[in-house]
Amino acid sequence: MMDDATYAEPLLGWYAQNARDLPWRRETGPGAAWSVLVSEIMLQQTPVARVLPAHAQWLARWPTPAALAASPPGEAIRHWGRLGYPRRALRLHEAACLITARHGGQVPDSVASLRELPGVGSYTAAAVASFAFGQRHAVLDTNVRRVLARLVGGAAGPVSTGVSVSEVKLAESLLPDAPDVAARWSVAVMELGALVCTAATAPSCGSCPLAGQCVWLTTGRPAGTVQGRRTQRYDGTDRQCRGRLLAVLRDTSQPVARADFDVVWSSPVQLARALDGLVSDGLVDPLPDGRYALPGTAP
Ligand code: SF4
Repeated sequence: MMDDATYAEPLLGWYAQNARDLPWRRETGPGAAWSVLVSEIMLQQTPVARVLPAHAQWLARWPTPAALAASPPGEAIRHWGRLGYPRRALRLHEAACLITARHGGQVPDSVASLRELPGVGSYTAAAVASFAFGQRHAVLDTNVRRVLARLVGGAAGPVSTGVSVSEVKLAESLLPDAPDVAARWSVAVMELGALVCTAATAPSCGSCPLAGQCVWLTTGRPAGTVQGRRTQRYDGTDRQCRGRLLAVLRDTSQPVARADFDVVWSSPVQLARALDGLVSDGLVDPLPDGRYALPGTAP
């Protein structure tokens, strides 16, 4: 295996020339950490192109964790819009409340404290500590795992669904020593995976700054069993039904009657199941008069 400097120089040079100008990358420090945290939660299950406008609108409305904490959780769900997986909005609201109550309104800078925030797992904690605070952590998302599997492991992609201990050790061993350089390295590997070493069967190796060192390329790009994300059916699923019901609630500031849901979904059994799920997930409040509202928004 090559040492980290062998990879770092060409990769950081490539990143300086080719990185996308994403708003959450423009600043660092405590003030920017909220922007980074919001972006990371949104990006967990939603592509960059859809996150960009939502992230801008979110920060315009709630420029600080304290601002979000002062709003009812239902407003967070309303403004989550169509990003999907709206429990993330609820978790982000809970995180904002905890940051406000326990950390004086500043996103904490330690991985341990970040991990205590709702909705923040090991990847997101490392990403925020690294990207917002310039710390030295292995940041292993799907893109990074794929790049390292090809570059160092000589495989077509990660062989396990979850992050393995050996992947963490490998990622840590490649981090440059200086924290600020390590933080740039982490985001650069991620960017390479997003733009060049893509999930497609034919990554753009011709424009890769690491082509000369890549084990997978130099061994003829052997085929392998790659754990890819399965495309999930959406039409007709409970998930689609839940999205339609939440859209009804998002589009009005008033509570809605059960009958208002009937016009957006034709199967009563599936509708009832989806509505029950939304209530038990805390995304919808059932009111004493039989109507429904986004949590904390009923007059
Ligand atoms: S040479 Fe190709 S496979 Fe190897 S890291 Fe670069 S893009 Fe990925």
